[in-house]
Amino acid sequence: MIRRRIFLLAAVGLVALVLLSTMPRAEAPVEDSRLSAENTQAPEPIEASETGDKVKAGCAITQTMMFSRCGHSVTRRIEAPSSVVGGDFETTQNYYDLWQIDSFSAAAIDMSREIDLFCPMHRVLGCNEAGEIVLSRNVYGDGMAIEQTYGGLSLEDFDEETQEALRLGLGFDTADDARAWLSAH
Ligand SMILES: [Zn+2]
Repeated sequence: MIRRRIFLLAAVGLVALVLLSTMPRAEAPVEDSRLSAENTQAPEPIEASETGDKVKAGCAITQTMMFSRCGHSVTRRIEAPSSVVGGDFETTQNYYDLWQIDSFSAAAIDMSREIDLFCPMHRVLGCNEAGEIVLSRNVYGDGMAIEQTYGGLSLEDFDEETQEALRLGLGFDTADDARAWLSAH
């Protein structure tokens, strides 16, 4: 009887494990919280007592990327990856070495990162390595992807001041706005 119960428990445990491992790990969709830079308060320092906690499976990680070129911020929520589950504050900080951990507990971790780019909502006029004018967009969060290259146009077609602005990247709400700016210059 006892043996049978143990067998049943083991079977239930196994099913739970299989279910857990097949559950989708899809990341939450990107939400634009449109926080302006001045509304972002400096986070409280992490308390020493919190840093002893160990990350639980299913721990919710909230990542906020603050884009300094436009002042927007984007927050996404993910489940703690297996690489940090069971680890402490230090393990987590080492794994997310580009991020600043703003709050830390076994069940919830908040982290933020300042990125010197426009957020994904904008189209950005700039130039590629050859000096050609390109339209790009931040599709990776921390990296721009070129969407269009204006082959016939290069930096030298613009005055010094505009060249400098293009080297930094000029942000527009839409690709049409960017094209309108180009045809006016
Ligand atoms: Zn933005």
